[in-house]
Amino acid sequence: MNALSIQNLIKKYNNDFEALKGINLDIKQGDFFALLGPNGAGKSTLINILISLVYKTSGKISIMGVDIDENFSKAKTYVGVVPQEFNFGIFEKIEDILINQAGYYGIPLKVAKERAEKYLRQLGLWEKRHQKAMRLSGGMKRRLMIARALVHEPEVLILDEPTAGVDIELRRSMWDFLVDLNKNKGITIILTTHYLEEAEQLCKNVAIINEGEIIENSSVKGLLRKLKVQKMVFDLSNPIDKTPALEGFNCTMIDNTTLEIDIEKGKSLNTVMEQLDKKGIEVEGIANKQNRLEELFLSMTKKKGGQ
Ligand code: ADP
Repeated sequence: MNALSIQNLIKKYNNDFEALKGINLDIKQGDFFALLGPNGAGKSTLINILISLVYKTSGKISIMGVDIDENFSKAKTYVGVVPQEFNFGIFEKIEDILINQAGYYGIPLKVAKERAEKYLRQLGLWEKRHQKAMRLSGGMKRRLMIARALVHEPEVLILDEPTAGVDIELRRSMWDFLVDLNKNKGITIILTTHYLEEAEQLCKNVAIINEGEIIENSSVKGLLRKLKVQKMVFDLSNPIDKTPALEGFNCTMIDNTTLEIDIEKGKSLNTVMEQLDKKGIEVEGIANKQNRLEELFLSMTKKKGGQ
């Protein structure tokens, strides 16, 4: 079963700008899916169409098998969205924000109160429930948005740049929370992100959107396999004063004890080690550089955008 199915989705804004140029995308139930794309690619437009903040020009969308044109009020119950911008009333009390949200979905008050408690506790906000939202820190506001999106217990959770501007510690705890929702509660998670490390770490499948078109749609693993070059980071035992010239390998000195070396598919790490050894450079450790997806992403969107 597809949690989300999009067919030939087109969005033309009033100024005739075509922000989505015929998107086709299927996301399976239970997936942890990343929608990647540079600024202006069309990610928010797509999300806003799903929640009917923006009207599509044409195309078909089903959420958990329900066509949004045929039964939007049912389709919307399946989705919880965490937008990028904080959009709750800052003078409202935290608990009320959740209870009122539940009200929009026709959830009886008693259940709404129980749910509010459950999700505020899960997101570490229960102690603050009587405070006005304006008094929360940025990270807490973000967690409040997640709690609010979950209060009607949707099957699909969509997060637009969930960890933008969030410090590392909170980012990790949000990742854990999302992984638990996905793995243990079976919630399909779709996130847009700029932190490609986030997609690499969390997501099973990925689509890359650029200038209103899906330019890649595959598993994260499959996408990474496409990488012809692996970047390896070499920690050196002793400082060096200049970048060593290695035959057949691109080498960059990051600092005087760190080298970054590109290793193409089919070439052996041993050859690098031998060359370094000959130059008297002792290697203490080797690591695979994170954010490999980032490089692939940049090269793909660059190709397309011609920048
Ligand atoms: P992203 O979320 O990937 O950054 P958006 O969906 O916000 O991208 O925007 C996609 C494109 O549509 C951008 O070029 C943006 O300028 C344009 N756009 C967004 N909203 C409007 C609007 N209301 N009117 C005209 N163009 C818009």
